[in-house]
Amino acid sequence: MKRRIILLGPPGSGKGTVAARLQHEFGWSHVSSGHMLRREEESGSALGKRLRRFLEAGELVPDEIVLQVMETWLKGAPLERGFMLDGFPRTLAQARTLDEWLLPKKSPVEVVLLYDCDFAVILGRITGRQSCPACGRAYHARTSPPKVAGQCDDCGIALVQRSDDSAAVTRKRFEIYSRQTEPLVDYYRCQGKLTVLDA
Ligand code: ADP
Repeated sequence: MKRRIILLGPPGSGKGTVAARLQHEFGWSHVSSGHMLRREEESGSALGKRLRRFLEAGELVPDEIVLQVMETWLKGAPLERGFMLDGFPRTLAQARTLDEWLLPKKSPVEVVLLYDCDFAVILGRITGRQSCPACGRAYHARTSPPKVAGQCDDCGIALVQRSDDSAAVTRKRFEIYSRQTEPLVDYYRCQGKLTVLDA
């Protein structure tokens, strides 16, 4: 079975949602670079302060910072058991660096799942997204609303929306994906690792 997996696709294509379920069901490790970067930002570290403005603007965090955070992850990564990388790599430079990291460890990426999805679908999904700041439970204002609007069913507290989930920032994130991340589709297709999913 393929164990070292990259989830590729535009923001809102469902990578994170599916990976969280697979992790829950099969115990596969789900690694989200966005989550790791937000955690770094919340920690108030010097690195976290440097990346705040990129996260808020929906722009890619510079490769040098992302690679620093991901290299820390790699040190304890379950290379044998396997992982699903969600949101990393996002540029050709990141993809090449990841290959260079894994080569001497004889643990190459084995499969890349491309979540193929239109912008109109993405916009509807992302702008309705809400979550509970306490337990992390995710909702969608239209497709999976809480029992009381704007309130977590389990904790009873007010749901929040990510600051980069507005329509304007979503459009920008999609454009950035098309320009900077889509070239990875060919990169991995040439390596014979790409599988396309209708997301
Ligand atoms: P989404 O897939 O919904 O855009 P993520 O949680 O994957 O959300 O990423 C949120 C933000 O974190 C991105 O908009 C970007 O600013 C930053 N980010 C995450 N991963 C990377 C990466 N590999 N390279 C650069 N920036 C990243």
